[in-house]
Amino acid sequence: MVENARRRLAVSDEDADTRAVVRATFGDAYDIDEYGDEASLLSKLKARPPAVLLLDCQLHTLQTAQVLRQITKTPELSRTVTFVLAGPVGCFDFEEGHRLGAADVVAKPFDPVDLRARVEGALGRQQTAPLGRQRIGTLLVRAGAISQDELDTCIAKQREHGGRLGAILVREGLLTEMELVRALAGQMNIGVADLHEEAPTASAVGLLPRDFIMRQRVLPLRVDDEGRLVLAMTDPLDVVTIDEVSLRSGKRVVRVMCTESGFDQAVTIYLSTRGKLKSADESEGAPPEADDALALDESVIATVDALISDAASMKASDIHIEPCEDMLRVRCRIDGVLHELREYPLSLSPGVISRLKIMGTMDISERRLPQDGRTSFETSAGERVDLRLVSIPSMFGENITIRLLEMSPVIPTLDDLGLIGPSRERYEAAIRIPEGGVIISGPTGSGKSTTLYATLELINTPDRKVYTVEDPIERKIPGLVQTEIKEAIGLTFARALRSLVRADPDVIMVGEVRDLETAKMAADAAVTGHLVFTTVHANDGAATIYRLIEMGLPRYVAAAAFRCVVAQRLVRRLCTHCRRQETLSAKKWEELGLGAAPADEIQIWAPVGCGRCFNSGYLGRVGLFEVLTVDDALRDIITGGGAAADVRRAAAQARVASIREDGIAKVLAGKTSYLELVRVTA
Ligand SMILES: [Zn+2]
Repeated sequence: MVENARRRLAVSDEDADTRAVVRATFGDAYDIDEYGDEASLLSKLKARPPAVLLLDCQLHTLQTAQVLRQITKTPELSRTVTFVLAGPVGCFDFEEGHRLGAADVVAKPFDPVDLRARVEGALGRQQTAPLGRQRIGTLLVRAGAISQDELDTCIAKQREHGGRLGAILVREGLLTEMELVRALAGQMNIGVADLHEEAPTASAVGLLPRDFIMRQRVLPLRVDDEGRLVLAMTDPLDVVTIDEVSLRSGKRVVRVMCTESGFDQAVTIYLSTRGKLKSADESEGAPPEADDALALDESVIATVDALISDAASMKASDIHIEPCEDMLRVRCRIDGVLHELREYPLSLSPGVISRLKIMGTMDISERRLPQDGRTSFETSAGERVDLRLVSIPSMFGENITIRLLEMSPVIPTLDDLGLIGPSRERYEAAIRIPEGGVIISGPTGSGKSTTLYATLELINTPDRKVYTVEDPIERKIPGLVQTEIKEAIGLTFARALRSLVRADPDVIMVGEVRDLETAKMAADAAVTGHLVFTTVHANDGAATIYRLIEMGLPRYVAAAAFRCVVAQRLVRRLCTHCRRQETLSAKKWEELGLGAAPADEIQIWAPVGCGRCFNSGYLGRVGLFEVLTVDDALRDIITGGGAAADVRRAAAQARVASIREDGIAKVLAGKTSYLELVRVTA
């Protein structure tokens, strides 16, 4: 270690005051080179490579992003630690700067003491790097992973072009990234974490701030039985970071090594986004209101943004924010099942709840009564997610449930949904006829509206006028006229339907039939030359028709108006990256209540869990369908006074697959597990 050598620090900033602050802050220990806003900056830097560069991001003659990129590519500057000085309205945020090779991004005006500490921290980490780099090569040769000759060649390449030794070894094809990690970890006697396979626990991820995780390239994986934090590191020799993690988390650290690509993937999945919550006003285009009344901690805002964007990137449908006795628990529903997302200290709870209520334009002073709110969120990919918020008072404070309504135009096809084979053929035949009613039925959360949207996509052609009445509008589809009902002002399904049948529609979609009035109007429209789609809460095809009759719809009307009923359920789709084949005995099969076993030994697939499926074993969902066409035979049974059981019997005779039968076919095909089938059809 060189103790007394003065290091060179360069500052490039147009603003003389900023340069003066830098001079005053670092002048005692560094030789300072000052640059204004000049086109020749890069060549000047090359001529006198600084140890540290403080780079203003609002340069006029140069693009900061370009400068950053060039600095990382310039061999003379490969040892320079670059800090971006960002304006108050962030021209750069940390993730962007980091991606372009900056060690850190500091917002102006900065605290000089803090900046000095950050600069020295970064230099300290860099000091350990060359040591580490040499050791990595030596370790690999000792492990027999590469030869000394190969190492020498790569070190020479590194001298010439810069870059990390490990990356060069991998690029040269001498070993894979995982082999490199295993060899190094073996020599260091530490464990290996495959982040492509292993997911961090919710409580561990919350122990470190996301900026820190990304900057130091470490990921807290879990807290082990002895209360130690298992930390995945791309560079396990980085002792400075290990100390800092221990200090921040208050836990002893057990380091395990992970690959760079595994780390990148994990960060994309678990800490990916830089989305922003928009207030309801903001999303309508009006300027944001300042909430002076409640100046919230930046960290609360960042926490809320992070958890919504994480939930959105995991394709969650709901987020549950639940204050408990000793912590704030956040869970999210993915593919219909709740998962723990994060745990926070209870002290964060009031801030998080207030932030959400403000954004949802709810009354923050009202804590005893349930409230509804709405807002939207923009993900880093620029996708908008509409949010519906509901607050419910509870013993430990208000709970907030957030429903995420994805506004992305990507609508699954009927194939994606699993509507295939003879059922699909019957369904397509029914929707090809330009008049009559089609009902999708199932309990809440069975995917009825997704099937409706997929169908509307199919029939939404320019020569047709398609109207919808929905509660709420879950997806916006170009070319459709979509209306959202508002019970509060009396805009009910029935009322909206009454006006739109006068607007010369070809196709009408009524979100749900809940009462006789709506049922009558939908049936009317179906027999007067319109194609009508709707949904009903019912368990199977036969029950759906009888549900309408129970509401008071005359039998002959129900039988004449509705031509096709699709009853459906959603089951989770097995993750194909980790599912495992298993053999089930006929006895076990029958015990599960799955009916007659198709064979003595049945080959099925079971869930395992990996990094891609958040350790659940499932990824996405697939529908189970019964498609019942109301033909003359069924119409006779219905109008002739037959019961639902008679319709079921006739359907079975006509070989209409029931939901259960469709489910069994999908279990045998490895699309889902028998556990899922039992869960949703028991
Ligand atoms: Zn998996």
